[in-house]
This record gives sequence, C-alpha cells and structure tokens, in this order.
Amino acid sequence: MEKEKLYGKTLNELVAVTKRMKMPGFAARQITDWLYKKEISSIGEMSNLSRMAREAMEEQYCLGLSAPVSSFESSDGTKKYLFRVIVDKYIEAAYIPEDDRATLCVSSQSGCKMGCIFCMTGRQGFQGNLSANEILNQFRSIPEFRKLTNIVYMGMGEPLDNTEEVLKSLEILTSEWGYGWSPTRITVSTVGMLKSISSFLERSRCHLAVSLHSPFDEERRMLMPIQRTNSVAEVLDVIRNFDFNRQRRVSFEYILFSGLNDSPAHVKELARILNGIRCRINLIRFHPVPGVTLSSPEMQDVIKFREALNEKGITATIRASRGTDIRAACGLLSTMQQNKQRQE
Ligand code: SF4
Repeated sequence: MEKEKLYGKTLNELVAVTKRMKMPGFAARQITDWLYKKEISSIGEMSNLSRMAREAMEEQYCLGLSAPVSSFESSDGTKKYLFRVIVDKYIEAAYIPEDDRATLCVSSQSGCKMGCIFCMTGRQGFQGNLSANEILNQFRSIPEFRKLTNIVYMGMGEPLDNTEEVLKSLEILTSEWGYGWSPTRITVSTVGMLKSISSFLERSRCHLAVSLHSPFDEERRMLMPIQRTNSVAEVLDVIRNFDFNRQRRVSFEYILFSGLNDSPAHVKELARILNGIRCRINLIRFHPVPGVTLSSPEMQDVIKFREALNEKGITATIRASRGTDIRAACGLLSTMQQNKQRQE
C-alpha cells in the first residue's frame, strides 16, 4: 500500500496525524518545522522526535518530495520543469528569473477543463486535480527553491477549480508555522469561477488575477467558454463588493490578439466595466498555438493599447514574454505528449 505523504499537510492535519500515532501534542509543530523550515529528505532526520515515533511514522508515512523528471532551459534564463503527478500524469512549472525577482509559475491541475481556445493546456483536456503536496512539491523540489521571491498560480489548470487544495497550499506558504511567506508575494489567477472566488478572497490574503481578454460578452465567450456560465460582469460585482485592503492587489490579465480585442472600442469598454475597481491590467502578447488562427499583435500596437488604457486612468503594464523557445510562456504549457507516451 502506498504510504501517505507528510509534505503538503497543514498544521491541523499534522495534529490529527500525531494524535493517531499517539505522539505528544507539541509533535505536530516539530514536524511542521522539519517539513517547512528545514530541508530534510527523510522522516528519520526529524531528530527531536523519539526514535520509536520516527520508526512508527515511517511505517505509514513518507516525506513525499519528488524531484522533477526533466528540465529545459530557455536562452532567456527561464526554466521549465516537468513533474510526474497523479499516477502517470505530468505537469509543468516555469521558473522565471528577472533582475532581483525569481518567480515560479506553478500548476494546480493536470490539464484543464476550461477550454480557453488560445491555450495549449486547455487543448489537452483534464486529467485531474493536484493535491497540496503536488502543488508545493513544484516549489520545494526545484534547485532554485531558496532563490524564489514570488509564486504565481498561472501554470496548468484553473486554481479555483481546485480551491481546497490550492487554499491548503497557500496556508502552508503563508503561515508562520509554514514557510512564512507574505501573501503579497503570491498571485492566484482565475478565469473567474464565481462559486469559488469569494471563498478565495475570504480565506486567503494573496493577490488575485482575473483572466479578462475581452470586455465584450460574445467575444469573451468565443475565447473562454467559462463566460457562458460565469460572466465577467458577475465576477466584477464580487470584486467590487469585496473590501480589499491596500496591500492586496487585483489585476486583470489581457492577452492581445491582433485585430480582435485591441481596438479603441475595447479600451473604452474596459474603462467602463472596470470603473471603481482599483486594479491594473497586464497586457500579454498572444503566443501562437498550433491550429488557432488568431494572431499576435506587433509590439508597437501593444504599446499603443497600453497608452490608450493609461490615458483612461487605468494602470496597464506589458508582461514580457519569457521562455517562448521552450514553450514555457503563457498559454504554451502542455504535457499532452508525455501523458500519451505513458499510455503507449
Ligand atoms: S488559460 Fe488557464 S483556465 Fe484557460 S484552458 Fe488554459 S490553463 Fe485552463
């Protein structure tokens, strides 16, 4: 029988483990220290637990860390790591170093159900939710772990379609008994899952990024099927009615497609629908995907669009494309090939 993994458990879950193992009450805190503050590679190294307790734990539990199965490095320094998860499925994480920042883009699901037409992950369908262990393992098991300054949940999958495990991973990252990271270093991106967005806002203090891509209903529906059931107008209502503190940021991701969503009418409508929301828009140039006829705008058109938004009083920035040559850039992550190979 497969052993249960300790890494990725919250303090409360570890209290339950220690109770089951008849260990003293303070042992759960000792275990969180070993798991999240020290870099051990086996339960045997938890030297302030009695030998008996360690041996008993080792019979039922394992640490649960697993190294990436491969990695690819871009000419711009971005690295893409491939991890094996959920019995024979694969996911990718992207490490993006930039000046004094080092960001990790993590996956929350293997594949994705959302079917956004511009995204390779959407094309591969849905293989399963990642556990908090599998989400955090992407962070802990890369060689650059100690260099990381920021984490974005923008890899494969829709994080708010796996809310409980994502929230658990955020709790471990931000709790004082966990990694103790400031929530302002973490951004969770969503297509706008109405049911889970309030829960995320109430139960975490991390930044929120909403994939917008068009202010017009019909156009957004064509790009992102989620618009049919969870309209952006409803998502904006939830955001407008939530009491954000000054440190917490809401941003909107906006992939620019040439001749589709980059007109003055789009700027005007964006200004109208975002009125009253303190936010910023991140503009991303579309990265062409095989079989999709949409095209990428020239850089000068992206700059023009940004300036037009700025003139309307909206803070807009252009996200630099990183790791395009190793297919690590926005919308390009896919493990369809690896999943297929395992089946053959
Ligand atoms: S863009 Fe995000 S939500 Fe949409 S299909 Fe890709 S991974 Fe899923």
